[in-house]
Amino acid sequence: MSFDQTDKTLLLLKPRGFCAGVVRAIDIVRIALEAFGAPIYVRKEIVHNRYVVDDLASKGAIFVDEIDEVPNGQRVIYSAHGVSPEVREASKKRGLRVIDATCPLVTKVHVEAIKFAKEGHSLVLIGHHDHDEVVGTLGEAPDVTYVISTPEEVQTLEIPDPNRVAYLTQTTLSLDETVHVIAALKQKFPNIKGPHAQDICYATENRQTAVKDVSAECDLLLVVGSDNSSNSNRLVEVARNLRTKSHLIENFKAIQSEWLEGVRTVGVTAGASAPEILVEQVVEFLTSKGYTNLKEVEVMPENVRFGLPPEIVAAIGSAPAAAQ
Ligand code: SF4
Repeated sequence: MSFDQTDKTLLLLKPRGFCAGVVRAIDIVRIALEAFGAPIYVRKEIVHNRYVVDDLASKGAIFVDEIDEVPNGQRVIYSAHGVSPEVREASKKRGLRVIDATCPLVTKVHVEAIKFAKEGHSLVLIGHHDHDEVVGTLGEAPDVTYVISTPEEVQTLEIPDPNRVAYLTQTTLSLDETVHVIAALKQKFPNIKGPHAQDICYATENRQTAVKDVSAECDLLLVVGSDNSSNSNRLVEVARNLRTKSHLIENFKAIQSEWLEGVRTVGVTAGASAPEILVEQVVEFLTSKGYTNLKEVEVMPENVRFGLPPEIVAAIGSAPAAAQ
């Protein structure tokens, strides 16, 4: 079956791509490199995106997995996903000069974990066991925290005092699936406490809402993002749950020509750590394949910005060029 080329539509979802926490984290590394010079060490991927990490590495950032890989006395930046107190302690012991790029919305979850644990609650942390953010949050109260990700896991949870329990979540989960886990928790532990405002962040929610609003109009939805990006993977799941074909792509080169067979309307979005240049390349590629009817669909405005940490503000003050 062949379509008239002019019929092919590309829907570009908005909001998409970088969130305020990712912009801040990348700015911190960029400004630190300009103000202090290379090398600047960064613990873990600053954000979960290969392009961003390679770009900063080419400018002099050295990415390490653990603090013991950083030479004593050097500068180290913590990633947007946050760290556990154990990591902070290890940095102190090595005399490192720390710049913290933890997203303020991840810090909010850490503060809640500390508060609930101090009050004597057991904590149920809904999230993915091996994700950097969950590892960091778990580290705030490891002896009283239980990590789960599904309603089924709730059934097997054994909590010492079922009347003193609280839940928290990773910031980048699927809203729809987390609702079911929380409902199962409330059923099993009727007195369970939760955060004042949901832990799933505004950027995760907005990008999922945009996919929900637009996916019925798409034959295929492409999500630009890296394999290890939690919020990007969730966008693919949201589309698939609505029976829209969807794939996660690192960049335009990952698009397989058979995916486009019979596809009249393709939607494109990007996870919170994926840079716009990768989206532009996808648009260019799809345009070359006949998707020339380009429409940007703005589901909601998004204007969140976070301030920079004091060390970086001071660095900008002493080296104005760094802020350009
Ligand atoms: S996805 Fe949300 S929690 Fe994660 S860095 Fe962005 S704003 Fe912060």
